[in-house]
Amino acid sequence: MSISFRTDSPDEKAFRTEVRDWIDATLPDDLRGWSTRPPFDKAIWWHRQLHGKGWIAPAWAKIHGGMEATLNQQIILKEELARAGAPEISAQGINHVGPILMAFGTEAQKERFLPPILTGAESWCQGYSEPGAGSDLASLRTRADIDGEDFIINGSKIWTTWAQYSDWMFALVRSDPDAPRKQAGISFVLIDLKTPGIDIRPIKTIAGDEEFAEVFMDDVRVPMTNLVGDLHDGWRVANALLAHERLGTANPQLLFEALERVKKIARASGALDDPYFRERLAEAEIDTVGFAAMFAHAAEIANAERSLGLDASIMKINGTETLQRLADLLLDAAGTDAALTGRVMTEDGPIEIAPLFLQVRRATIYGGSSEIQRNILAKRVLGLPS
Ligand SMILES: Cc1cc2nc3c(=O)[nH]c(=O)nc-3n(C[C@H](O)[C@H](O)[C@H](O)COP(=O)(O)OP(=O)(O)OC[C@H]3O[C@@H](n4cnc5c(N)ncnc54)[C@H](O)[C@@H]3O)c2cc1C
Repeated sequence: MSISFRTDSPDEKAFRTEVRDWIDATLPDDLRGWSTRPPFDKAIWWHRQLHGKGWIAPAWAKIHGGMEATLNQQIILKEELARAGAPEISAQGINHVGPILMAFGTEAQKERFLPPILTGAESWCQGYSEPGAGSDLASLRTRADIDGEDFIINGSKIWTTWAQYSDWMFALVRSDPDAPRKQAGISFVLIDLKTPGIDIRPIKTIAGDEEFAEVFMDDVRVPMTNLVGDLHDGWRVANALLAHERLGTANPQLLFEALERVKKIARASGALDDPYFRERLAEAEIDTVGFAAMFAHAAEIANAERSLGLDASIMKINGTETLQRLADLLLDAAGTDAALTGRVMTEDGPIEIAPLFLQVRRATIYGGSSEIQRNILAKRVLGLPS
């Protein structure tokens, strides 16, 4: 089913059918309905299937190997992937560093790094946060000292999603500790995670998976050709990337999927017979459709190659908080099954409940917490004092 706010044109209808048929024929059952990320080898297998079909990078331009899909085609893809319960593709390459390289990278960097991002031959992680530099990211302390043609990097990163499976990390490092403003002394570099001096230690999350890791760097030598943008200008590059990240984390696919789960569990448990529950479900469905409309608007801005600006913060808050409300509703619908960590059997197949609830706690933290997004809007839209 589709809960899109749009009506497909005949061409779009044909595209939707093609997508749906292909997913149904290609996506195996054991890759459907994951609340956490599936194991890396399975996730990368799915990435390669999408790449083989030409659908891995719907928003990328054709000159970079992308699909250059229309906005509506992109939305149809997201809706159909959600309908099938397909796993999320790691965003760090396709949604984050890829667009940044297109905007700020040298020709040599684009040629070297974009193709393996598309094929899935190389995986990426994001090295921004540090112990003591999360919301206040500009306080980061990982040092990059220049030695001839190289940076020598010392410091550590934390909460680095899937660092343990990645080949490369794009990172913010302090290249000028004497800069008058802390934002001014930061550079954006690409680090090969096989370089000597790097130690990666996974961290287990509340949902039981090893979503992220700590990355320790001890005299790690990185060629200065891996600098993206100008030296000490990494803050500007990073902020462009955060706008992409906030749009990506607000993907309506996750909401559609959660809504479907709530309905299935509510059918199975009898919660649908309760008028109060039905009212809350209707509210959640309206919020989800409203969010999809907002997402389409934001995607239109991004597609027109205009900066998402403050829309990115609005999307991040709205998308992630709606997702959490859906997960709360899922627990209520499940009744006594809510505490089970495994999958609950229903007529519509096995469904995870508690893992989704635990998994989405993080959504209002990563990519800049809800409090920080509200601070940004208070300051820049409402003009309130900081
Ligand atoms: C699942 C997950 C994956 C992540 N993946 C990555 C990754 O791949 N790469 C990466 O670099 N980072 C990653 N992060 C880190 C994430 O970006 C940070 O957790 C986030 O920026 C918050 O920083 P912090 O954890 O240091 O919390 P803190 O900054 O210490 O904040 C703690 C609390 O205080 C609040 N707070 C802080 N400052 C203010 C303020 N000025 N006004 C009001 N409230 C405030 C925050 O909202 C939060 O609730 C990930 C985090 C999670 C949860």
